[in-house]
Amino acid sequence: MISAADQVPGIMPMPYAYDDTNIFARILRGEIPNKTVLETDHTLAFHDIRPHAPSHVLIIPKGRYVTFDHFAAEGSAEELVDFHRTAAQVCALLGVAPGAGGAGYRTIANAGPDSNQEVPHYHLHILGGRNLGPLLA
Ligand code: 5GP
Repeated sequence: MISAADQVPGIMPMPYAYDDTNIFARILRGEIPNKTVLETDHTLAFHDIRPHAPSHVLIIPKGRYVTFDHFAAEGSAEELVDFHRTAAQVCALLGVAPGAGGAGYRTIANAGPDSNQEVPHYHLHILGGRNLGPLLA
């Protein structure tokens, strides 16, 4: 499989090292239970264990990606499309998509120390169900 990093001049592969012991890797291996919202061949969506809003779902690729930029640079086209289609389905299931009459939501993807990323497996937070206030607390 040729990744986007191989196809786009100027984008170099990221020097990320993936830690197979992280909690989401353990969830993907079935070692830790989760409250699944949706699952596909490439993507898993599940409820956050400590929700920050009435709806708080995490979407993760099943591949070994550490951050958003890692996934965006090195994920296959199939993985990238599947991930984002799953995210759209989650927004629909939660009833938060503005285009379908929902009141809206926020996506967050923490990456690295300055963002206080807790789990080193790429995940997209989808938060909704209340007014989420300013962009950063
Ligand atoms: P981060 O700070 O890395 O962006 O967010 C990690 C998120 O993972 C946090 O919101 C935290 O509550 C959630 N989390 C950590 N451990 C678990 C777990 O074992 N199960 C679930 N469902 N969520 C978890």
